[in-house]
Amino acid sequence: MPARIVISADGKKAFESWRLAFASVAPQVSVCSWYDPAYTAGEDDYALVWSPRPDHMERLACMKGIVCTGAGVDHLLAHADFPRHVPLVRMGGEQTARLMADYVLWAVIGLLRDARTWAMQQQQGLWRNNVCSRTSNTTRVGIMGLGHLGAYVAQALAHVGFCVSGWKRTPAELDGVTVWSGVEALPDFLGELDVLVNLLPATPATDGLIDHVLLSHLPKGAGFVNVGRGRHVVQSDLLRALDDGTLCGAVLDVVTPEPLPDDSALWHHPRLTITPHVASEASREVQARYVADVVASLERGEKPALLCDVTRGY
Ligand code: NDP
Repeated sequence: MPARIVISADGKKAFESWRLAFASVAPQVSVCSWYDPAYTAGEDDYALVWSPRPDHMERLACMKGIVCTGAGVDHLLAHADFPRHVPLVRMGGEQTARLMADYVLWAVIGLLRDARTWAMQQQQGLWRNNVCSRTSNTTRVGIMGLGHLGAYVAQALAHVGFCVSGWKRTPAELDGVTVWSGVEALPDFLGELDVLVNLLPATPATDGLIDHVLLSHLPKGAGFVNVGRGRHVVQSDLLRALDDGTLCGAVLDVVTPEPLPDDSALWHHPRLTITPHVASEASREVQARYVADVVASLERGEKPALLCDVTRGY
């Protein structure tokens, strides 16, 4: 039987949009809904998931592969009975990376020009000139996490003219980007930045990493962009850093919990811009093309580039 993709991603109602996307960009691929009562398991079934329910785990354990519609898979590995023996592949592709680069560029330039003040002034009908003469080519941006997305974003920022550095677990070289590695290098990396961008995966080693101590290594008045996970940040420490001037402002695409509760203090902080976890989500068609390619490569016995290493957790 040819490979088939069983789709639970985004719930029962989303299946039709997935079916249309696969029909348009990968008509050779067979798809079916996870929720179809007539579904019977096949040996060559692959699952396409975002956030499967605990009662999905038993069936997922019988799949030949699992593709996640997100680049972060921390929520899957957090399930004690998530089937770790089944190959798990993260979302990737050019559009996902480009969207992330565009978002980070928007956020960094917004911090550089203090666009938050303009937005608040407009709301109040205020015409007040807040002159800012900082430019991209004198602004130092550091990216924590230089993986598939982080490396792409770093090079996109460098291309615009920012002075870019990055921090990761293991040493590496990246054209146009100064690379720091290891926990011991973190204070030196942070000490040279005007804007810090977080693009780490959520793992036990990175949870709560961005706290008062880490932020205190930044030059006073630096900006912060979080596009990794809300869990990386100790939110009370972030608010304190915004209040005492350690940070000039922050842009958060990810928070904890999501959605952000109505009574969260983050909503109303004048130095904070919040977006609802929208930095990088490729179109259905682009994701369907990517998933079809991943399944084809697994069928050929190849190792897809974004195969998750479950022991590392990303
Ligand atoms: P990758 O797995 O490709 O890259 C992860 C990077 O983080 C690697 O450079 C890795 O270093 C580094 N890293 C991991 N653990 C540590 C550590 N303990 N200390 C220092 N560096 C570490 O991930 P992606 O680039 O694809 O995605 C990154 C994250 O972005 C996702 O996990 C997700 O949380 C988030 N994301 C957010 C989205 C949004 O819309 N807001 C959309 C997509 C992703 P090394 O290579 O040396 O191991």
